[in-house]
Amino acid sequence: MQTQLFIAGTWRDGSGGETIAVTDPATGEHIADVASATPADATAACEAAHQAQLVWAAAPPRDRAEVLRRCWELMMANQQELAELIVREQGKPMADAKGEVAYAAEFFRWNSEEVARIRGTVGTAPSGANRMIVHHPPVGVVVIVTPWNFPAAMITRKLAPALAAGNGVVIKPPTETPLTALRVAEIMTEAGVPGGLVNVTVTNDPGAWFDAAVDHPATRMVSFTGSTAVGKKLLKRSADRVLKTVMELGGNAPFIVFEDADVDAAVAGALTAKMRHSAETCTAANRFYVHADVADEFTEKFAAAMAAVNVGNGFEQGSECGPLIHERQLDKVAALVDDAVGAGAEVVTGGHRLDVPGSFFAPTVLRNVSPDSPITREEIFGPVAPIITFTDTDEMIDQANATEMGLMGYVFTQDLAKGLAVSERIQAGLIGLNRGAASDPAAPFGGMKQSGLGREGSTEGIYEFCETQYIATNW
Ligand code: NAD
Repeated sequence: MQTQLFIAGTWRDGSGGETIAVTDPATGEHIADVASATPADATAACEAAHQAQLVWAAAPPRDRAEVLRRCWELMMANQQELAELIVREQGKPMADAKGEVAYAAEFFRWNSEEVARIRGTVGTAPSGANRMIVHHPPVGVVVIVTPWNFPAAMITRKLAPALAAGNGVVIKPPTETPLTALRVAEIMTEAGVPGGLVNVTVTNDPGAWFDAAVDHPATRMVSFTGSTAVGKKLLKRSADRVLKTVMELGGNAPFIVFEDADVDAAVAGALTAKMRHSAETCTAANRFYVHADVADEFTEKFAAAMAAVNVGNGFEQGSECGPLIHERQLDKVAALVDDAVGAGAEVVTGGHRLDVPGSFFAPTVLRNVSPDSPITREEIFGPVAPIITFTDTDEMIDQANATEMGLMGYVFTQDLAKGLAVSERIQAGLIGLNRGAASDPAAPFGGMKQSGLGREGSTEGIYEFCETQYIATNW
């Protein structure tokens, strides 16, 4: 297991000699001590990325494509091992972890196919005075900062298009889940990624690390996934050097069930939208708006499905929901539930921590939740589904949009025209229409409002990592 920093193609300890303990959230057991990077290490990583990027950007697109495709192949060849690492440090069930590895690897395959298709245009100025050539060179060095909920995929979703476009990168994985990131770097080296192009530095002092990375003259872009609060800080700091930014931030997805929905399909979709990856996804359904005509049927069937979820260590056969990432998160989820119940919500199932070692919370359904209670405004990031009943569509849509977040929404109805019309009125970057999941490397992923800036994945995603240059000329 790699536990050192990966800088300039070599494995080394942090220059300050400090380490960070990594623990298993299911057992509290100590797994590893990982080297911690100092600001000087961040500077060295940016310098290495800069030097390697100059060579990489000049390589034929087809060569870059082939290296990225080998990254996909090798990640899939190591799917089981990577999934075990994810379960160990993050806690999600093995099936979700294997799914994450396939999703993460797919960003390499998709972007390997896009490399040769980065397009420009040639035109004539309206006055006829000159020709206009527009093309898309890489930005240079990209600083990547990622969260703990997808230890592999949140990295490759940025890394693959950044490399495809011809950039060098410096990655800062979170302290909770650094081991997967380090293993991915090792696999990428085996796949032929040149030394120095991809640097991975974990740190126990993210603020000082970020200052050093942002201030390196070759750094031209910051790509961040994490909470809106931290994203705002990084945006402000990036403004000091007018860096390009892509921000994938928090969510607060409404899940809407109309009276004409197929209730069984809505229940299956709700289970997916709520419980995937132990309910710790940014796209997780956070608030359920259910029409009064089907509210009882939906609530009873959904509560039965939630009560049947197999909660346990992600390594256990059949585990469907692992522990929350740490005690702090468990305390936050418990407080939100207690607060909602104190304000009149009724617990239909769950509602409490599990009396076992590790940070486990029982899958929970609440009904009679007030539409403006904290549990509907904050990102829960835990297995809790608050249900609000509605009768008036306009009023419900106003409530669904009454948030600064706008990442994902879900709509269930058998009337497709109504479903599309309502989808267009939901202020969110992604909509699952009669579906409990939407993410795909071939589709644009990103939020409206304070859920983010820019898009990842799809054809659009690669251009985020490019500049635009216009050359006026005549021939
Ligand atoms: P977080 O914001 O606490 O941390 C994210 C990363 O930022 C970590 O690597 C952390 O070490 C780093 N960080 C914290 N302070 C920093 C600083 N001052 N300077 C530089 N780096 C700093 O988020 P988290 O708790 O790890 O993840 C959960 C959050 O991520 C949720 O809000 C979730 O919605 C969001 N998320 C969003 C998406 C998306 O695509 N929109 C995807 C996954 C997770």
